[in-house]
Amino acid sequence: MALAHRAPQHVIGITIGTAIQTAIGGSLLMRVDPLSPAPVHAGLGLSCGPLPCPDLSLLHRSWSGHSLVLDGVVLFLIILGRYLLTAGGSWWLLRLWGRGRTPKPTPAQRRRRDEGIRHDIRLSVVSAAVFALAAGLVLWLQAQGLTRLYARPDAYGWWYIAVSYLAVLILQDAVFYATHRLFHHPLLYRWCHHGHHRSHHPTPWTSFAFDPPEAVVQALFLVLVVALVPLHLITLVAVLSTMTVWAIVNHVDLDHLPQRFPHHLFGRWLIGPAHHCLHHRRPGVHFGLYFTFWDWLCATEDQSYAASVGPAGVGSRAS
Ligand SMILES: [Zn+2]
Ligand SMILES: [Zn+2]
Repeated sequence: MALAHRAPQHVIGITIGTAIQTAIGGSLLMRVDPLSPAPVHAGLGLSCGPLPCPDLSLLHRSWSGHSLVLDGVVLFLIILGRYLLTAGGSWWLLRLWGRGRTPKPTPAQRRRRDEGIRHDIRLSVVSAAVFALAAGLVLWLQAQGLTRLYARPDAYGWWYIAVSYLAVLILQDAVFYATHRLFHHPLLYRWCHHGHHRSHHPTPWTSFAFDPPEAVVQALFLVLVVALVPLHLITLVAVLSTMTVWAIVNHVDLDHLPQRFPHHLFGRWLIGPAHHCLHHRRPGVHFGLYFTFWDWLCATEDQSYAASVGPAGVGSRAS
């Protein structure tokens, strides 16, 4: 890691903002001591040899000195700030880019859209609180040595960092598909998922708008993964960043996208805005998160979707 080559013999505190902001939230402090030839205990049951090694045991000490309430508030603010920056920034860029390229909304459409955005932001504030609790739980588990996070890139081999990244995305996609379909059951929908569907025309602000039960399920998945699957910190950052970016891209409604948006780049097997926006318009189809596999396998894919993602189909669904 590039960080490991900076400032020998100094304690470097880094906030893995993107990671923890994204979903779990929080901050991990890492100590780098690249010149020490002696093995260093990493606080994760791993011993480091002569290679530079971040010392995650600092978490044990930092946790014990902190107030739970203060940590919770800080995590909440980080996660909420991440949401406001990424969703708000995307929305602002889209409006800037779409000026003159996309049809102007009528006053009534604008009023409905703004109401939807206000609702999404309110719900996202609650989601941020839920994910802050999950982040606190992860930090506490880490302080107890109960997570499988590790810091040495070669602990499981470099190949494992890439493979574990893909494996977590595939697992998350499967869990998301199953729970998402469950939330659409009439008995659960009103309590668990209705809030996310309030906007028939989603915006990036919808990307984090979950009813509290859904937010709890999504956050708990991440806590369980961190507790059960050996993950390098960089893998965790990559997974959480992917979640954020993918959620925002998927919630750019076709009406807000320029006509020439390259939908075909997502291809047949990756979910993009053309796929997920159909779910917001017709909630009986398209339950997946990253990959179209489960919708295809479980026959919940819109019948005309495959043809629409070719270069010739771009924009044809926007009407
Ligand atoms: Zn959605
Ligand atoms: Zn849904």
